Amino acid sequence: MSLLVMKFGGTSVATLDRIRRAAKRVGREVANGHDVIVIVSAMSGKTNELVGWVEETSPLFDAREYDAVVSSGEQVTAGLMALTLQEMDIPARSWAGWQVPVKTSSAHASARIEEIPTDNLNAKFDEGMKVAVVAGFQGISPEGRITTLGRGGSDTTAVAFAAAFDAIRCDIYTDVDGVYTTDPRISSKARKLDRIAFEEMLELASLGAKVLQTRSVELAMRYKVRLRVLSSFEEYDETAGTLVCDEDDIMESNVVSGVAFSRDEAKMTLLSVADRPGIAAAIFGPLANAGVNVDMIVQNISEDGRTDMTFSCPTNQVARAEQAMLDAKTAGDINYVELVADTEVCKVSVVGIGMRSHAGVAAQMFDALKAENINIKVITTSEIKISVLIDRKYLELAVQALHDSFDLDKTTLNEG
Ligand code: ASP
Ligand code: MG
Repeated sequence: MSLLVMKFGGTSVATLDRIRRAAKRVGREVANGHDVIVIVSAMSGKTNELVGWVEETSPLFDAREYDAVVSSGEQVTAGLMALTLQEMDIPARSWAGWQVPVKTSSAHASARIEEIPTDNLNAKFDEGMKVAVVAGFQGISPEGRITTLGRGGSDTTAVAFAAAFDAIRCDIYTDVDGVYTTDPRISSKARKLDRIAFEEMLELASLGAKVLQTRSVELAMRYKVRLRVLSSFEEYDETAGTLVCDEDDIMESNVVSGVAFSRDEAKMTLLSVADRPGIAAAIFGPLANAGVNVDMIVQNISEDGRTDMTFSCPTNQVARAEQAMLDAKTAGDINYVELVADTEVCKVSVVGIGMRSHAGVAAQMFDALKAENINIKVITTSEIKISVLIDRKYLELAVQALHDSFDLDKTTLNEG
């Protein structure tokens, strides 16, 4: 018996009508001979509402109770989906995370899935159940408390089930019809990709493309789960959506596959810190402890034993970063003259596994930005991506220029 995992995001289950529509899609896969595990999100807007209630009740909330509250949205959808399927004469049953049980770490509000035993669900499949509807985004800690996996976590639930149950595929139904070369709202030339490699998707997801939770892509890559992203609002066919898969399964060979961006970045510069062994640790240790997600780091050349240290972080973490640096200075752990925050920057990146075998991608990127007179403030590279920090007001212009420069509106096929 082949097993398929189908995940429906918040917009796909936003109303009873939409749940019915999703259930029909599940019914078709059952008719095709599959057993199905359906993973559901909360109805759209629900999780935000629940988070709002928690924050209003208790600004410095106890994360265990936050999880108790925000996990409830998925439980509602799971029950409604099971009822809808039963109304269609499809044998279905719902499960909250703890009932499966989805075993997680105890990091409340951002727990990691550690194990999903398959015996409970498999016993039900053996008895004739066709569809197990599982509440996404949640699990149970070793202490026996409900946990949640972080915003967007149902994607990760879906991939983890696909891995645990050795599913033939994991279909992620959402409100966009696939993964695009860039955000279609920014460039009208954005093109839907038929396939994208795990590694590229991982970079795109962590660089700000919001289709999939980053952790879900990490997991899919580790366990080689074939992931398909598709819309629940469009007519279905076998080639719908974008397949996230192994690079060997990809026929296209554009050097660059996508342009990603994140709008709200800040560039922070510590002026004149002592250039001595341990200085980076003395700066970035406290930032990490304060929960600041440092991304790019540049250390300038030093003069007379002093240097400038630049890093980037999300704009909403600037205050936290400033406080952490001030505390470290007061404690005498670091000594700097000034911390300059530039909160009007954004990050634009080009991503592609083709970069591994092609020289000159960085030069082409910088040329395209030069042609638009856009000044680059910080550059970082990895094997398959190049990122730059630029003034936020140039974000759209830069994305469009790069999309054009790398011909992302066209497909190039692999020879052979
Ligand atoms: N409902 C949760 C959220 O909005 C989890 C999910 O939908 O993936 O973050
Ligand atoms: Mg989502």
